[in-house]
This record gives sequence, C-alpha cells and structure tokens, in this order.
Amino acid sequence: MNNLILEAAELIKNSKHTTAFTGAGISVESGIPPFRGKNGLWSKYDPNVLDLDRFYANSEKAWVVIREIFYDFFGKAKPNFAHNFLARLEEYGKLHAIITQNIDNLHQEGGSKNVYEFHGTANAMVCVLCDNKILSDKVDLTNLPPQCPKCKKGVLKPDFIFFGEGIPEQAYMNSLKETEKANVFIIIGSTGTVMPACMLPEKAKFNGAKIIEINTEPSNFSHSITDIFLQGKATEICKQLDELVFKV
Ligand code: NAD
Repeated sequence: MNNLILEAAELIKNSKHTTAFTGAGISVESGIPPFRGKNGLWSKYDPNVLDLDRFYANSEKAWVVIREIFYDFFGKAKPNFAHNFLARLEEYGKLHAIITQNIDNLHQEGGSKNVYEFHGTANAMVCVLCDNKILSDKVDLTNLPPQCPKCKKGVLKPDFIFFGEGIPEQAYMNSLKETEKANVFIIIGSTGTVMPACMLPEKAKFNGAKIIEINTEPSNFSHSITDIFLQGKATEICKQLDELVFKV
C-alpha cells in the first residue's frame, strides 16, 4: 500500500461532495475494450458504423454491426469490482454522482443510482421519427432494422450519440452541476481526448476540487490537473481503496 493510495482514501473519507468521472478503461476488465488502441474496437470494426448519415442511408446494414458490437458483445459484460466499489461508496454517502462516458450500463448494473450518461446509453433505443423511447431488452433484434412499436413507421436507433451528435441535454446539465459541486473528483480509465467530456475534469480542478486519477497509463489529465495519480488497473486500485475507506 503506498502513500498515494492512503492519501486518496483520506480525501474520499473526508470529502463533502465527491463526483466520479469514468471512461472506457473502467469496463476493460469486464471484457469491453476501448474504441482506440491496439486491441480497441476500431481495430476490428469500421468506426463509420457510428456515422449518422450512413445510419440513415442504410440502417439495416449499420444495424448488423451495431447489434454485434453493442448488443451481442456488450450484452455479455458484467460489472467488475471497480463498478461495485463506486456503488458501495454511493451507498455509504461517500460518492454523490457518477458522470460516465460509457454507454454499457455497467454502473447501474453494479448498483449505482446517481449516474449521468454523458454519451447516452445502449440500454435504450429511440425512434428516429416519433422520438418514442424503449428499453433495449424489449426490442427484438432478429429482424433488422428494428421498427418503432408505437408509430410503426420509424426505425429505432440506439440511445447513445453517434459521431457529431450533441450531448443529451439533461445529462449535460446534471454533469456540469455535479462537476461544480465536487471537492473531490475521481477520474477512472479515461484518456481525456473526447470533447466536450474532457472539459469536465478541468472545470472541477478550476473550481478547487482535488483530482484523483486511476489509469493503467498516464492520460491527458495526469501531468496537468491530476493531484494524485494512482497507476494500475481499476479493479486493483479500487480493491486497495475499498480496504482503506471501509476499514473499521
Ligand atoms: P479511451 O478509450 O479514450 O481511453 C481508455 C483509457 O482507459 C486509457 O487511458 C487506458 O489507459 C485506460 N485503461 C485501460 N485499461 C484500464 C484498466 N484496466 N483500468 C484503468 N484504466 C484502464 O476512453 P474514453 O476516455 O472513455 O473515451 C472513449 C470514448 O469511447 C468515450 O466516448 C466512450 O463513450 C466510448 N466507449 C465506451 C465504451 C463502454 O461503454 N464501455 C467502450 C469503448 C468506448
């Protein structure tokens, strides 16, 4: 156990308002790779699958790949110790919100309640014509593209943002509030390259929050705004923090 972990645990224990900010790295040990990098999803799939114009031009073709990545593959993943640790922190009043860039629903499956999905979620679908929203597990993906069960005319699209789409307004507003309120801000598994999400940790720092960062490698944040950089896998670092924060 090193001093940095001890210091981070003390900050979490004594903080009045703690917000977590998570990226693809927290779900890597659940079996979901990030998009980029050597074994990233884009090394196997064409990123254009998330191009909105292509989706509208041929939604059946786009849906074949979307189903494979975001429903067949993501659907098998289960929350890991890091997701569960954040849920436990919330349960004991030590974490107030999670802002996640992930669309995999693993925070909620791990027990977290106050989660703001900055890029939306694969757990729901929305009709491109009538805006009807429906839980993904209520949609039959045997025949593609899936049709809206309400208006029976529109195609359903996953309720996460494709390239070039705006951030969902409610999630954006709530994320800003939780960023501004934080006096401790925990970043887990994010390179800090995706705009505008990567501005949130900067904003937290500007507002005086202490920044704790967990990542296997230094990120854009590590040498700029991070106060305590905990290098390692999210589950391993969270296990050490769990022992210290919940120690009686
Ligand atoms: P990113 O892909 O840019 O970076 C992932 C980060 O996680 C890297 O810094 C890497 O060093 C770190 N990492 C890898 N394994 C780790 C581990 N075991 N423990 C801790 N850290 C680890 O991630 P990003 O910043 O979230 O941005 C990518 C975009 O991709 C986001 O918009 C996100 O919505 C999307 N995405 C989401 C999922 C998901 O929902 N699980 C998966 C892939 C991509």
